[in-house]
Amino acid sequence: MTVPDPALVVLIGASGSGKSTWAAAHYRPSEVVSSDVLRAVVGSGPADLDASVDAFAVLEQIVAARIGRGLTTVVDTLGTDVPRRIAWRDAARRAGLPTVAVVFHVDPAECRRRNRERDRPVPAPVLTAQLRRMRDVRVELAAEGWDLVVDAATPVEPGPGEATPVEPGPGKAARGKAAPAEPAPATVDRPLGVVLQISRFAWGDDPAGWLRSIADAATEAGFEGLALMDHLIQIPQVGRAWEPIPEPLVTLGLLAGVTSGLKLGTLVTPVTYRAPGIIAKSLATLDALSGGRAFCGIGAGWWAREHGGFGLAFPGARERLDQLERAIPVIRALWASGTKPAAGLPETTCYPRPVSDIPIIVGGSGARTLQIAKRFGDACNVASDLEIVDRAIKAMAGQRAVTVLDVPIVGRDREDVAARVEKLRGRTPAAGFARRHHAGTPDDQLGRYRLLAQRGIRTVFVALPGLAGPDDVLRFAPIVSGFAEAGPT
Ligand code: GDP
Ligand code: MG
Repeated sequence: MTVPDPALVVLIGASGSGKSTWAAAHYRPSEVVSSDVLRAVVGSGPADLDASVDAFAVLEQIVAARIGRGLTTVVDTLGTDVPRRIAWRDAARRAGLPTVAVVFHVDPAECRRRNRERDRPVPAPVLTAQLRRMRDVRVELAAEGWDLVVDAATPVEPGPGEATPVEPGPGKAARGKAAPAEPAPATVDRPLGVVLQISRFAWGDDPAGWLRSIADAATEAGFEGLALMDHLIQIPQVGRAWEPIPEPLVTLGLLAGVTSGLKLGTLVTPVTYRAPGIIAKSLATLDALSGGRAFCGIGAGWWAREHGGFGLAFPGARERLDQLERAIPVIRALWASGTKPAAGLPETTCYPRPVSDIPIIVGGSGARTLQIAKRFGDACNVASDLEIVDRAIKAMAGQRAVTVLDVPIVGRDREDVAARVEKLRGRTPAAGFARRHHAGTPDDQLGRYRLLAQRGIRTVFVALPGLAGPDDVLRFAPIVSGFAEAGPT
């Protein structure tokens, strides 16, 4: 079972029922707020009951601060104080965090045995009262309305449930939705091609060598292709303006020469940079030189600064979308066989012809962009959030493919994921950054891609936020091969 993450997780069980052990097995130490630990901080040790009032005052402060930041908070106390428990739940709801109660029911004899073995056992009558108290807990929790009540005996994994992100609503209390995902099937039911989007170029003093090492790693990791952004200045979402962002078609020419199986293209070329005929010419050439591996991502452009800085016009959104709509038929006309007049051109003489049927992928998820994609494109490309994907699938009405751009943060385990988020988040709050970048383990990513594949998505473009070198690409191999091995069913 998947426990939503981030979430408020309240542990409920008698002394010795295994709460702290469970918390340590599933969460990072800083995510667990334990009354025993805080008794030792403000008092003489974990069993210093005289320090309880102070310990709980600190505990409440820590819980409130973490929940307020949208961070996973595991509350390790007896958990049987109902007003406290409900106050934590309400605070989590206000912050848009799913609320989870984990119940520890252990055989009373076993609990007593574990208690006796402790350095400072709880007095037997106290433990008996705690165990008796646990009999009512299940009924209480059902009435309290937690998003998820878990029996501690159930194997669980904190992970990104798909319904997990809940935005705090202004005024009304946002209800966290639990996402107990169904058990993941062993293999994926549909093939999914993963294309690496290179968006940062940490190439030091060897640009070509670095690009080649990335391409080699992408091939080794099983990626289907390489995509390059088409920007004139590095965009703020990715890096700083003085970091290199090479002209993509020149760069794709180099990549065509050092790879043999990877598809190659832009994601996406703004129509504002190049006349449509020039886009057709460049892509036809790339396709011919690469033996039919080209794809053409195209969009309306969005970043005023790079246009101004390079002396290019940046008309309003409506005009840019008009340009996009006019461009695609022109490109197709120049790629088609023959030289007769078409798409408003007096002739369509464009040699070399493409050697393959170059797919045109229209980037963007605005209503008009999707209309253009449906009418003129082969696919639309949208962000990987499921609501956006579902909207795009609906807009395409099964007539055009939907591809997605995913920008995930992948770590080996929970600890590594948190460390990477902390390193890359800049000044963005960690919880929001982690959510936007679907931060998680390879298994978490596979789970998400499975949901995309189940929706009929065939291509995921992946940009890696911390991409520094080939090792970062190879780290993604288990995710790519998780799909490649399954094959069609
Ligand atoms: P807490 O008081 O609920 O936090 O319980 P702890 O997690 O501190 O566990 C109490 C004792 O039970 C410790 O000695 C643990 O090693 C032991 N313990 C915890 N979970 C298990 C379990 O699943 N099986 C067994 N056999 N022992 C456990
Ligand atoms: Mg404990």
